Amino acid sequence: MMRWVLWGALLMLAACAGSTEGASERQKEAAQMQEQEKADYAIVIHGGAGTILRENMTPEREKAYRDALNAALDVGEQILQEGGSSADAVEQTIIFMENSPLFNAGKGAVFTSEGKNELDAAFMSGNDLNAGAVGGLTNVKNPIRAARAVMEKSKHVLLTGQGAERFATEQGLDTVPADYFYTEDRWNALQRALQKENQGTGALLPADYKYGTVGCVALDKAGNITAGTSTGGMTNKRYNRFGDVPVIGAGTYANNATCGVSCTGHGEYFIRYAVAHDLNALMAYKGWPLDKAANHIIFEKLKPAGGGGGLIALDAYGNVTMPFNTAGMYRGYAKPGEREVGIFGEE
Ligand code: ASP
Repeated sequence: MMRWVLWGALLMLAACAGSTEGASERQKEAAQMQEQEKADYAIVIHGGAGTILRENMTPEREKAYRDALNAALDVGEQILQEGGSSADAVEQTIIFMENSPLFNAGKGAVFTSEGKNELDAAFMSGNDLNAGAVGGLTNVKNPIRAARAVMEKSKHVLLTGQGAERFATEQGLDTVPADYFYTEDRWNALQRALQKENQGTGALLPADYKYGTVGCVALDKAGNITAGTSTGGMTNKRYNRFGDVPVIGAGTYANNATCGVSCTGHGEYFIRYAVAHDLNALMAYKGWPLDKAANHIIFEKLKPAGGGGGLIALDAYGNVTMPFNTAGMYRGYAKPGEREVGIFGEE
């Protein structure tokens, strides 16, 4: 009797794996994962994906982006090196990127169709699966601070609009006048989008669309993973639209047992494909390594569906992945003795 039960269990395992070949591949992957040593710490960031081509970029502008990515990594890496928490590293790194006009988050956020800036952000802790998010902020200087405050200081996960702003003010967060977020580049981008729309030539997303959301995921010395994302959303958005960023499981997710992830791209697709949670699920339920799971989502699921974008993620060992199916993605990572920043494809 016992023997039949065991055979039954084995047969079911083989069926789950799809084939004996699949099963041995899974065993190999599991063995590889067990052999790994945890990196002391790791940090990975993105500054948005899109039609970012070398031929459209001046050397000065390229240098400005590379410098900003390195400076953002410096902020987080120093905190992690000194034994600080991944939560502090993610928050401070994203604050740095929000304060830079180069990225579509905080100062430099894109404009809605009505010429306003409405900001979204999310923060998640892989230690206890606690999370906080805000949507549609118009006067909070650093939306990522508001998202972390929702996680740590409220009983809720997602606050939006005026209520979220009241909460942020009660928490003593810095507020700014609406024109603080203005940048000429983003204003001109809105004018171009409106013009195309009026001429009836505007697809929802022009061919040269650039997503500029920022995100950061960190693993600290204690083994805790935190993920955060912050954005102005998409140029010419309307009707109080939220993208994937404030939706936990779409643009942001963290679980110490699997991975932390932050996404950038056409938010509607990232919501529909529950991208950030899907990465966690492929690792948890299928036992896939980080890289395989991330590539599968970006290239096999999102790309054929027309969902442009990418993600950054790391796992409990500090392995890092940064796949994107657009021409480019501002990105970078650092861990002890290793650092890389990139903008274009195939760097
Ligand atoms: N994912 C963001 C959104 O849809 C846009 C971006 O990544 O830049 O709001």
